[in-house]
Amino acid sequence: MQELLGVHVPPPREDFVVRETFVESALRKDPLPHLDYSFNPYIGCYHGCLFCYVPRLLQTDRAAWGSSVVVKRNAANVLAKEVRKLPRGLVAISTATDPYQFVEGQYRITRHALEVLLRADWPISVLSRSGLMLRDLDLFTRFREIEVGMSIPTLDDRARALLEPWAPPIESRLRCLRELAAAGLHTFVGFAPAYPPTGGTTAEEIADTFASIGVREVFTRPLDARHGVREAIRGRLEGSPLAEELLRLSDRGYMGDFVARIAARCKARGIAFRGDDAFRHPGYRR
Ligand code: SF4
Repeated sequence: MQELLGVHVPPPREDFVVRETFVESALRKDPLPHLDYSFNPYIGCYHGCLFCYVPRLLQTDRAAWGSSVVVKRNAANVLAKEVRKLPRGLVAISTATDPYQFVEGQYRITRHALEVLLRADWPISVLSRSGLMLRDLDLFTRFREIEVGMSIPTLDDRARALLEPWAPPIESRLRCLRELAAAGLHTFVGFAPAYPPTGGTTAEEIADTFASIGVREVFTRPLDARHGVREAIRGRLEGSPLAEELLRLSDRGYMGDFVARIAARCKARGIAFRGDDAFRHPGYRR
């Protein structure tokens, strides 16, 4: 049990640590081509995905990733000041944490940031792995320019449980996206990093599933195996019946073909697809 400035946050895992901090800036200029800024309400992430690129960016110990989170208590207040001074631009929520991991249920930093951005009439792009996102549907539907997405890099929840041990099940993410689309929102899937097919999943089935829940756009990227990712994944998959199939995650030729098939089938169903060219890029890291 933890009492943090009056906010009670019971961690779902006993050994998970929640800390707080106060920040001086909230928006960061984002280097990705289609975004202007990123807003990250937390440092660290409960979901602890083995392939997460954030430990590399932060130069932190990968083995400790997923064991703690730091809450930026004043991030929404700082954001309110920044939107008055900075040029209006598209804000990604988030790029280095999950904005709807469990602490958001009580701290509501993401929700307060949405209220600030809504008042300022700034465009947003929201991405999560958690159905807690639906809590903020009332705010999402009032934005003039918005896209909302879920990371769904596989349909096989056994593969998810191996590589994203504490992230919500795939089925809950699909349900969440379906409801967001039903509310009239532009929804997208982050098929990233692209998992290889396991348990007989086909490109057709993936495209059909996304089409059936109203997805408008899919983006993908290959696994970045640097900074201990390859070793962490190999260690986790040791002895698993899915090991042989999942280790194809870093097989460039195989993944390129699989993603090309998904892209073609998505496009045939009217779903925009981007990022597949990265699998053919000479700089793609195996
Ligand atoms: S949900 Fe996103 S930020 Fe969190 S561990 Fe997974 S990949 Fe990293």
